[in-house]
Amino acid sequence: MTERVFNFNPGPAMLPTEILEEAQKELLNYKGTGMSVMEISHRSKQFEEIIVGAETLLKELMDIPDNYRVLFIGMGATGQFDMIPMNYIVDGKAGNYVITGSFANKAYKEAVKVGETHVAASTKEINFARVANPDEIKMSDDPAYLHITTNNTIFGTQWKTYPETGDVPLIADMSSDILSKKTDVSKFALIYAGAQKNLGPAGAAVVIIREDMIEKSNQALPTMLKYDTYAKNNSLYNTPASFTIYMIRLMLEWVKSQGGLEVVQKRNEQKAALVYDAIDNSNGFYRGHAEPASRSLMNITFRLPSEDLEKEFIAEAAKVGLAGLKGHREVGGIRASIYNAMPVAGCEKLVEFMNDFRSKKA
Ligand SMILES: *Cc1c(COP(=O)(O)O)cnc(C)c1O
Repeated sequence: MTERVFNFNPGPAMLPTEILEEAQKELLNYKGTGMSVMEISHRSKQFEEIIVGAETLLKELMDIPDNYRVLFIGMGATGQFDMIPMNYIVDGKAGNYVITGSFANKAYKEAVKVGETHVAASTKEINFARVANPDEIKMSDDPAYLHITTNNTIFGTQWKTYPETGDVPLIADMSSDILSKKTDVSKFALIYAGAQKNLGPAGAAVVIIREDMIEKSNQALPTMLKYDTYAKNNSLYNTPASFTIYMIRLMLEWVKSQGGLEVVQKRNEQKAALVYDAIDNSNGFYRGHAEPASRSLMNITFRLPSEDLEKEFIAEAAKVGLAGLKGHREVGGIRASIYNAMPVAGCEKLVEFMNDFRSKKA
């Protein structure tokens, strides 16, 4: 390829060309320091401006209430699978999990190693073709929290409304749909996301945490595993993933320049509708994995009549600049990941390709 392609990879994922160009422009000399942003001190005023700016912008874009902090923590989203139970499964309480996919199950399995747990609902029986209905969720007697995965990256399902948990802290893995639509953050005690899907490159998890949850951090834990270490030190207790945080900041500025979450959400709905319509109007040639009411706006999963045709689809698509369409082995087939950075034109080109391919092969 001599030009950039439409990149449908699930993560690390496509980034807007504009922010890559911006980073390129500043790469050798960041704002007159004579150094790359990779080379400056994480305690410099330039970096402080980046990290504070990233927190402020995320708060503004997601309308995060004042009693929440935004933290940047290493170890990706998977590290949060460990930190959450270690910090909050205390005093005989049980970590409650809704299992709607592989990542949800991984989170649950980590909690099992730490302490008391409870499966509040699971859709494993139907190979995670939908999320759980509110009336299926049965919490344990003394829940430490309820954990959900708002978008199931591998299966292509997404929660449309979130469970009401009253006083029980609702914790969400939003790795693959954070910042993709308007979200009422006040429903959640803690939200986390690996950066490499909708926020920037890999290297950090973004954690949006309510103040009482910071106070509740388990003080018996080693320093790097407690949330209050990150909160008290503005995520600068040790050297953070500074370049990643810089890129996140650029990404947030880009979302703002697009018109914020309202505009981005509309565009995401439009993009997803294009591809789902192509599936639904294919006379059964393309078969969606997710039940319609649970369809994800971010990851679209579908099968073709045979595995041979699926292989051919992926190879032919790559030749015309549609990359990264191979589905995860747990679903098979095709997965089109269409995060914020995927333009409408990418989905239009995919749909055109789908229609052509079907008319040749059906
Ligand atoms: C990608 C993903 C993860 C894993 O993220 P890492 O940053 O690689 O640890 C966890 N949960 C969900 C929902 C994901 O999509």
